[in-house]
Amino acid sequence: MPILSIDNLNKNYGRVQALKGVTFSVPKGSVFGILGPNGSGKTTMLGIIMDILKPNGGTYTLFDQAPDENMRRRIGTFLETPNFYHYLSAQKNLEIAAALKERGADDIPRVLELVNLTQRKDSRFSTFSLGMKQRLAIASCLLGDPEVLILDEPTNGLDPVGIAEIRQLIKQLHQQGKTIIMASHLLDEVEKVCTHVAILKKGLLVANGAVNEILASEDIVEIGAADMPHLKAVINGMNGYNSLKEQDKMLQLFYPVGKTDVEAINKFCFSNGIVLTHLQLKKKSLEAKFFELTN
Ligand code: ADP
Ligand code: MG
Repeated sequence: MPILSIDNLNKNYGRVQALKGVTFSVPKGSVFGILGPNGSGKTTMLGIIMDILKPNGGTYTLFDQAPDENMRRRIGTFLETPNFYHYLSAQKNLEIAAALKERGADDIPRVLELVNLTQRKDSRFSTFSLGMKQRLAIASCLLGDPEVLILDEPTNGLDPVGIAEIRQLIKQLHQQGKTIIMASHLLDEVEKVCTHVAILKKGLLVANGAVNEILASEDIVEIGAADMPHLKAVINGMNGYNSLKEQDKMLQLFYPVGKTDVEAINKFCFSNGIVLTHLQLKKKSLEAKFFELTN
């Protein structure tokens, strides 16, 4: 059962088309990254799911049903840096948050422990580092133990230690069986933390699926010969590569990392009457792939 299923979602702000027919599903128990550069529509998408924004078209389901407030109560969110009271303690701020959400008043010690703020629960919010503030925000959305968390750029603005702490926390929550939907503009973050990803580019979905499939790096073997149609015909009869592309009068063969054997390719071509004029192994980095997808 998908936790969230989005079908052909559209959103315009006047002339700006922030989402253009986006469709994907979030499997239960996944850490689902919504990845895209700034302005690609991530926050808009999360805002629609949490009913802060209305879509101009399309539908979505939560827990496989038409969304309503009861279902949204099963989701913990922070969509922006939340407004805590600076002069109040972490404890007091969480008490207020629990009262506002009408859930989790008796859950405060547990969530403080989870985000490692028990020791500092009586300190004023204003004395917290940015990382601690962010952890308190996550504690707030964990109140009442929701099964799903929606986080918008949870590591934004943090230093490396703060980033590592939040990522560790997300992994821990995943291990406890939570489904986590998080927006991020950081490829590296999604690769490290997420099990699934949907990549947005200017409001369009350009890829979605398991991270190890979508963000797998590839090795590319580039080959050329005088008679390109013949080469193509021969290569069509060869196994082992994932896909094939023609570029700049060359053929590019895409292989899983480490699965290339240029010597075997060369031999195969020669034994089929082709003398290669060009044979080159190129490594394609994840960054290059992301850049290609989003630029
Ligand atoms: P992201 O979260 O990926 O950075 P957003 O969803 O915030 O992207 O924005 C998507 C697009 O919609 C951007 O072009 C942005 O400028 C535009 N946009 C977002 N919010 C508004 C708004 N309230 N009014 C007008 N345009 C907006
Ligand atoms: Mg955003």
